Amino acid sequence: MNSNHSSLEIIKTIAALQNHLQKQSSQKPVGLVPTMGALHNGHLSLIKTAQAQAAMVVCSIFVNPTQFTNISDLEKYPKPVEADLSKLEQAQCDILFMPDVQEMYPQKEHWHLNIGEIEHRLEGKFRPGHYQGVMQIVYKLFMAVKPDLAFFGQKDFQQIRVIEKMTELKKLPVKLVVCPIIREADGLAMSSRNIHLSNQERKHALVLSWALSQLKKSYVKEASPELRKEAMELISAEPQVQLEYLEIVNMDNLNQDTSDPTQGIIALLAAKVGQTRLIDNMILS
Ligand code: AMP
Repeated sequence: MNSNHSSLEIIKTIAALQNHLQKQSSQKPVGLVPTMGALHNGHLSLIKTAQAQAAMVVCSIFVNPTQFTNISDLEKYPKPVEADLSKLEQAQCDILFMPDVQEMYPQKEHWHLNIGEIEHRLEGKFRPGHYQGVMQIVYKLFMAVKPDLAFFGQKDFQQIRVIEKMTELKKLPVKLVVCPIIREADGLAMSSRNIHLSNQERKHALVLSWALSQLKKSYVKEASPELRKEAMELISAEPQVQLEYLEIVNMDNLNQDTSDPTQGIIALLAAKVGQTRLIDNMILS
């Protein structure tokens, strides 16, 4: 199913993927970059990092229905397939795994993995069930690709902690690699959802990365409640932006005990700009 002039192998079924990987079994380690498509430079940076560390890079594109907690968000999720293909060809990615829903969910199934509190904090509070859906699909992708390395963006920081927990509980032999957030020149974190922003909304959305960078500047050693309050006030001064949460937490377990200076501290937020929900975060120490 190779497209004409490129070396990108486009594969749509698990059987064909495994067959192909078997034939190329000398190409180790295998790196996986899971995405939902509508690729931007953030995704492409993951692929670049994967290429530096793996002999074979599989990018998956699958808009996973079980992780959406809002049906209209799922329905309007962008699917620019042709543009994605040409970006992957240009990036010289080896394999695009692009299954359909029937392939990943051939029958109704129950999934639940208890990973404790981390599932329910921050994003989990606003999108209940989201991380169960994320674990369900990432587990399936790991089973299909059997990657040695898997690459995820810090942009979805809580997701990394969730997937770490899942790989630990399921004893999966995969190393997770965290890649930095890629931003637009003006600071806005790249996201497939940014295309839903009007010009005006896009300008308003800048307050999110601005507030985080101000927080980082003022942060010295302690995550004082005043710092958080100041950042929240900056955001609430932008009436088009509805903040859902802004938390300063311990990077290890995402709880609010930030007293141990040896542990990293991160500020995370989610906000709605018009109808578009955006997330962002910044490591403070
Ligand atoms: P998504 O397609 O939004 O599910 O994202 C797929 C992967 O790309 C996830 O690991 C994200 O964290 C990562 N990603 C998304 N946006 C960015 C960004 N701006 N910079 C770096 N990685 C990103």
